[in-house]
Amino acid sequence: MRFEVIPGVRSITITDFRRALGPHALDEPAVTLTALGDDGTAVRAKVALVDKIAGRGVHRQFACPSCGTTAAVLRVEAGAISCARCRPHRTAHQRLRSTRWWRRFDGKLIDELARLSCRRRAARRLERMQIIADRIATRDRERISTLLADVDAALDLPSS
Ligand SMILES: [Zn+2]
Repeated sequence: MRFEVIPGVRSITITDFRRALGPHALDEPAVTLTALGDDGTAVRAKVALVDKIAGRGVHRQFACPSCGTTAAVLRVEAGAISCARCRPHRTAHQRLRSTRWWRRFDGKLIDELARLSCRRRAARRLERMQIIADRIATRDRERISTLLADVDAALDLPSS
């Protein structure tokens, strides 16, 4: 069985898989997943479907093609399809929050803007994005005027 993924999708969830192909698709022992990677090339992997015991229930999940552990979500990254344990992904907040850049250039606002742009159904999303974008632009203009004053002072020019 084949399962095609639309371009630009970086993850394949078992829920999307079942929704696209119906509940009987999970009865297959293995599937071939095809997705487009970041560079536009097709990434293909044969993925086993296995049972995972969770609580009193048994859930059908993917077996990661790299490590074999069960996963409800597989990622398409660096020309391969694998689970989050094989391809750990840190958010911008996790990677950058302790940096000077984050504090100095409104990293929190930029991160919030990026997160809002990914949401589909957030109420008043565009309104909030506009407020954040205006705040970032205002802070950028303030930094530029401060920088220009510093440059003028360093060059001993009359302030503009
Ligand atoms: Zn894995």
